[in-house]
Amino acid sequence: MDELEKTLDPQQAAIEAERCLYCFDAPCQEACPARVPVPEFILSIRSGNLHGARVLLQESNPFIETCGRICPEESFCQSVCTRAHIDTPLRIRELHRSVTDRTDPADRMELPTGIRGKVAVVGAGPAGLSCARELALNGFRVHVFEQLRPGGVPTQEVSRRRYPAEVDERETGFLVSRFVAHVWSHRVSDISLLLGDYAAVFVATGLPGEMMLPVEGMALEGVFHARALLRAVKSGETSGVGRRVGVVGGGNVAVEVATALRDEDPTRDVTVIYRRGIKELKAFKREVDAAIAAGVTFQFLAAPDRVIGQHHVEGLQVVQTHLCEEDETGRCKFEPLPGSMYVIPLDTVVAAIGQRPDAEAFSQLARNDAGLISVNEEMQTSMPGVFAGGDAVHGAQTVVEAVRDGKRAAVSIVTYLAGGK
Ligand SMILES: Cc1cc2nc3c(=O)[nH]c(=O)nc-3n(C[C@H](O)[C@H](O)[C@H](O)COP(=O)(O)OP(=O)(O)OC[C@H]3O[C@@H](n4cnc5c(N)ncnc54)[C@H](O)[C@@H]3O)c2cc1C
Ligand code: SF4
Repeated sequence: MDELEKTLDPQQAAIEAERCLYCFDAPCQEACPARVPVPEFILSIRSGNLHGARVLLQESNPFIETCGRICPEESFCQSVCTRAHIDTPLRIRELHRSVTDRTDPADRMELPTGIRGKVAVVGAGPAGLSCARELALNGFRVHVFEQLRPGGVPTQEVSRRRYPAEVDERETGFLVSRFVAHVWSHRVSDISLLLGDYAAVFVATGLPGEMMLPVEGMALEGVFHARALLRAVKSGETSGVGRRVGVVGGGNVAVEVATALRDEDPTRDVTVIYRRGIKELKAFKREVDAAIAAGVTFQFLAAPDRVIGQHHVEGLQVVQTHLCEEDETGRCKFEPLPGSMYVIPLDTVVAAIGQRPDAEAFSQLARNDAGLISVNEEMQTSMPGVFAGGDAVHGAQTVVEAVRDGKRAAVSIVTYLAGGK
């Protein structure tokens, strides 16, 4: 399967790097949650020192190769690039991708010789592994507990076209082999069991659950949940997905699963069914464009009412909607149009309407109304010695924000174990 985007070749990268204005306050760096030193790495490209650029990138962001592929830069660094006032913003993500595609992971980060203590990290996604790296560099022995595969959502669910296996293996493999003393392959549900063996625990379990579509017919054969299906597509174990697929939702997960199903079988009809309009789609524009290029179609202003069928899905009954005034977030509310019910003939329905935390795990930790783990400014939970971060704390975010949390939590854990606050 071909990747959508090709790396900038050395000449293109050099020309792009020439456009940097080296602003004294580096707004791009401030806007990057991982604080990637943008002007500095671009200067290294300009002077032809790709290895130096790689070191700068990797030291600031352990998931720099992943971010080079899938970071939504238009929401972060690129959105504040001063160059946009002259012509167009710098292609910062593509520039760092061009460096990491041409260099091996830099191995100059020395681990201290003495061991200051043992810390457990629960969940080996971007937040967990970023924290593990920083703790290991600070002299701690880190054990990771992971119920599926180390790497988290990018490894388990993001399609190979956007996130190739070799990139995943290189980056996740490097982090695990270099900075993690042991990976325990199982689900943790009781933190207090770990506190006897470890000086501190970092919980970074993401949002492993999926929201149920609250309509009749969800028990029929041919109904799937998006993220479970993405994991199945990635491991090549899809069965039961038919030829006429309706994906219900308007976020990144809906667009990701729709594109993955088309990529898997380009003769399949795949339609994203969304109750609002194109402007209200929450998915990143880049991913929507890729879905359209892959042949995914969109049915807007259609809210699901019931999945139709005897034993197997035969269609999705929807009601047509119209948009009215904006809600408190500035998005248009939708209202059903009376008498506008119709059926979309389908043999497969995929629910992609949201993610949720694992409510059964960690009953000892205080949570907010949305079920997310509550933390203070130091990322400490309600339980002494237990810290948390990433999607499990903030809800659905991005890889680079999970990296920020992992790094921050490591600083707090080191301070805590040194007897600080
Ligand atoms: C389909 C999809 C596409 C996305 N696309 C993008 C994108 O293009 N760009 C972007 O920046 N972000 C994207 N995101 C969001 C991004 O992947 C997440 O914000 C990020 O992975 C969160 O990192 P995390 O470490 O907090 O959690 P996760 O990546 O979810 O990692 C949590 C880990 O904890 C493990 N775990 C959970 N419970 C337990 C337990 N009880 N015991 C042991 N292990 C446990 C899980 O198996 C998982 O490996 C996407 C998300 C999804 C779902
Ligand atoms: S990690 Fe994301 S936000 Fe940070 S510099 Fe790279 S593309 Fe920009």
